[in-house]
Formats: sequence, C-alpha cells, structure tokens
Amino acid sequence: MINKFSSLKENFNLKNYNTYRIDSICKYFILINDITILKELIKYLKDNKLKYFVIGNGSNIILPSYYNGVVIKLDLKKVKYNGNIVEAESSCMLNKLANETALKSLKGLEWASGIPGTIGGATIINAGCYGNELFDSIIKIEILKDNKFMTLGKNDIKYSYRYTALKNNNIIVLKVYFQLEKTNKEELLSLIRERTEKRLSTQPLNYSSAGSVFRNPVDDSAGRLIEEAGLKGKIIGGAKISDIHANFIINYNNATNEDIIKLINLIKKTIYQKYQIKLILEQEIIL
Ligand SMILES: Cc1cc2nc3c(=O)[nH]c(=O)nc-3n(C[C@H](O)[C@H](O)[C@H](O)COP(=O)(O)OP(=O)(O)OC[C@H]3O[C@@H](n4cnc5c(N)ncnc54)[C@H](O)[C@@H]3O)c2cc1C
Repeated sequence: MINKFSSLKENFNLKNYNTYRIDSICKYFILINDITILKELIKYLKDNKLKYFVIGNGSNIILPSYYNGVVIKLDLKKVKYNGNIVEAESSCMLNKLANETALKSLKGLEWASGIPGTIGGATIINAGCYGNELFDSIIKIEILKDNKFMTLGKNDIKYSYRYTALKNNNIIVLKVYFQLEKTNKEELLSLIRERTEKRLSTQPLNYSSAGSVFRNPVDDSAGRLIEEAGLKGKIIGGAKISDIHANFIINYNNATNEDIIKLINLIKKTIYQKYQIKLILEQEIIL
C-alpha cells in the first residue's frame, strides 16, 4: 500500500508548490528526506505502474488542474564546501547557493542569484542567463536511475542551451558537484546587485509567473518577437502576457492552467504566422 510512505498526503493542492500559484490537485503528494526511502518509493511506483514526477520549486512548470499520480518533493538540502569544490543536494535553492558562494569569494554561480529554482530542477534543464549556464561549472552529479544510485561525470551527459539528456530519462538528481574559482568577493557582490536591479526593472516580479515562457530563437529574443507581434498585455481568463516583459505570462487574476496554455498557443500561432518561427517552450507542461 502506498500509505506505508508516512509523509503521504492525498488530494493535495500544489498551489504553494508552483510559482504560477495556480490550483493543481494531485492524487498523492510525498515529501522525502532520505534517498533509501526514495529508492524504495520509485520501485513501488514502477511495480504498481503509478505515474509520478519530482517537483523542485515548481518555477519552470505549468501544472494540470488535476494530476492523477504521485508528486514527489525532495527535502535534501545539505551543502558542503571543499576548497573551491561545492557539493549541493538537489533541494538547495540555486539563488541561495549563488549568493552564498559569492559571499565566500567563489565565482561561477553568481549569475544565478535571481533564479528561484532548486539545484535538481536547474540541473535537469541546464538553467542559465547572461550567457552563463549551470553546466559551465558542474563537474559531476549523483543520481537515482533504474533503481540504482550512480555518479555521472559532466562528460557523460549531453547538454546544450536549456537542455540536458537527463530529462525524460527516469533520472532523479540527488546531488551536484560544482567547481568554482576563488576570486574577489566585492566584484561578485556588485555584479549580483547590478543584475538584481536589472531583473527588478525588466521582469514582472510583483506577479506570479514561471519566468521566461519560450527559449530564445538563435540570434533573436522571444520577448522581442512577442512584443513586436503586438501581444504584450493580452489577457485570457486570469492569465496575461506581461506589459513589462513579453516572454513572461503572469497570473494576473486567479489564472488556471487552461488560461496559460491558451495564451501559449496564441503566441505560438501568431509568431509562426507572422515570422515563420516555431517558438519552443522553455517551461514544461505537466500532463
Ligand atoms: C521570476 C523567475 C525568473 C527566472 N529566471 C530564470 C533564468 O534567468 N534562467 C533560467 O534558466 N530559468 C529561470 N527561471 C525558471 C526556473 O526558475 C528555472 O528553470 C529553475 O531551474 C527550475 O527549477 P525548479 O526547481 O523550480 O524546477 P521545477 O519547475 O520544479 O521542475 C522543472 C523540471 O525539473 C524536474 N526536476 C526537478 N527536480 C528534479 C530532481 N531533483 N531530479 C530530477 N528532475 C527534477 C521536474 O520534474 C521538471 O521536469 C525563472 C523563473 C522565475 C519564476
């Protein structure tokens, strides 16, 4: 019985577990703070053919109004420093680690100070900004795959812009090792301050969202195309294309998953009709 996992909750609302803050009920929700129990749980779910996914901070996903399966939230937050090598467990927040490493004069993650995701979620999609990405400083990761704990070196993993082959491969990220570089602390802190100001003035941070909706096409910007197509400010139900940054959809007024997806489809269709460009989603629609 799934009830043997003591933290199990039934018909759980994930509203506070996704940054769009949309209502989404999952059949089961389980919080796990022990990787042995995680391994046992995954085996149980596979043996019983139950659908599941791991949620990080829910800052890059669009949840369904009902998820007929098990949502697993990891509670693994230890960080260890060994000179300029940093080991971070998957539930650590990337923005917190970026600030913490900068305060320790370690360069390599400072660019991520505004990204509200977990290390696990950020690794799976190779999060990045300002020309940097997480895989610039990753050296290896510890994972659970096919009921086995494994370590993968960076060279074992295919990755590119906002993509890794870890995704959709039954892989759960447990811990990530970064190689950072000792540098001047003040430089890092001033860069963080500058970037924070930039985000505050160019992103709609007073509304709930999941960051950029689409990847940028090569040598172009999705936000620019959407703005030029006249879609800024467009509202469907409770979702709106931000007036501040056209590649952000915001939860303007009790948006539903349907409202957000309708806006996404409208953007895709309009951009294709106008520019023959197929925009690719950066966010993930969970089914
Ligand atoms: C205001 C704002 C600004 C943002 N800015 C940026 C930015 O500059 N650059 C950028 O890249 N992103 C940005 N994002 C998007 C988002 O924060 C990142 O992509 C982040 O890395 C997602 O992490 P998460 O923990 O929230 O993952 P989630 O959204 O919870 O999950 C994303 C995917 O990862 C999987 N996953 C999560 N944890 C694990 C794990 N431990 N093992 C296996 N799979 C896992 C999930 O199943 C899902 O498939 C922004 C978002 C917001 C709201």
